Amino acid sequence: MVSLTLDLLNDLNSKYGGSFYILDSDIFRRNCEKLLETFRSYYLKTNIAYSYKTNYIPKLGIIIDSIGGYAEVVSDMELKITKHLGIEPARVIWNGPVKSKKVMEEFLLSGGIVNVDSRHEFSEICEIARHYKDRQISIGLRCNYDIGDGVLSRFGIDVGADEFDEILNNILLIDNINLKSLQAHFAKRHYKYWPAKSEGLLSVYERVTSKFGIYPECIDLGGGLSGEMPRSLREQFGLGDFSLDDYASRSALIFSDYFRGKKDKPWLFIEPGTAVAADCMRYVCRVEAIKEIRGKTIIETNGSQKNISMGSINPPLEVIPISNNNLRFKNADIAGYTCIESDYLYRNYSGKIGVGDYLVFGNCGSYSVVMKPPFIFPNVPILDLSAGKVEEIKRAERFDDIFETYNF
Ligand SMILES: *Cc1c(COP(=O)(O)O)cnc(C)c1O
Repeated sequence: MVSLTLDLLNDLNSKYGGSFYILDSDIFRRNCEKLLETFRSYYLKTNIAYSYKTNYIPKLGIIIDSIGGYAEVVSDMELKITKHLGIEPARVIWNGPVKSKKVMEEFLLSGGIVNVDSRHEFSEICEIARHYKDRQISIGLRCNYDIGDGVLSRFGIDVGADEFDEILNNILLIDNINLKSLQAHFAKRHYKYWPAKSEGLLSVYERVTSKFGIYPECIDLGGGLSGEMPRSLREQFGLGDFSLDDYASRSALIFSDYFRGKKDKPWLFIEPGTAVAADCMRYVCRVEAIKEIRGKTIIETNGSQKNISMGSINPPLEVIPISNNNLRFKNADIAGYTCIESDYLYRNYSGKIGVGDYLVFGNCGSYSVVMKPPFIFPNVPILDLSAGKVEEIKRAERFDDIFETYNF
């Protein structure tokens, strides 16, 4: 990771302003490669489909494609990104609860895979298939079952309900619908849920093969993994000591045991977002003012908690001072520029800090740029420093970017 020296930050500040994201796309690539390596050490036929919604910087989509991974999208907006990037539709998986029939039709006819989220969606796909009898349509089923995580997931089709078998019977009746994938995704990130998640999907696979004679080409375990992070973050997330191996040994190993000696093993897919994107971005902002309110030190900045979308935890923070004369503060709260009382980037900071200092927040790559609202200020630029030079990934947003859709 490029070290952010005062000289470099001053230089970036003069060109791009006092607040920006730093991307390190090499870290993203390495994270993906390491994830693949770890899972493949247990089950060779593993691949990844990157979750675009986690961080849809186009360059990340290109990197995934270049290492042979797929794109995982949940909207026609994200689908359009893959089109712009020239990614083959057959390497795109479309999940999510809301899909336009018209866009789905075009996507399915171009070879894309739609993971069906409801019976209604399935019936729309049947209409498309009947209308284009000479075309093959590839679908997956988003499978909903209990993994003991205390969440009643609202996504996909209940594998214990009659409608699940109904859909499979219908797939058998329609020649040109090809059930390519059984997929599940659960949001909780603890690896302790991974055995139940893997065994649950394997038992669906077993039912689909033995009862219906359908052999899906892939079993897709979705996302819900954490990636590398400093100990301080792991502790705040209640994750303890863990590594990617903790996920792989509780999923890919179960697959390799189940399929040992069988031929035509299915592909195992993982849909990582956070695990590969989180630590590839840092967020930089500056101290604007320091004040004291009834004994509490408030450090005001030109950044916001909305930029890092981590609430109620303290992200990794590095203070790059602009002078040697900073005073030391105890339990100071570092606040954002919005007019929301709870907008704090960091609570109870103790150490030297002064007006003008740069604050560098780590692990800002997941659900940050994609979730930042246009509240109070337009968005800041994104700069990739991985190649030893500055690549502007996204320019700073301007007044017009936000207001040109309004009628004045
Ligand atoms: C959000 C999402 C992912 C990625 O989740 P992370 O927890 O960020 O890894 C993967 N698959 C689906 C279907 C999703 O909705």
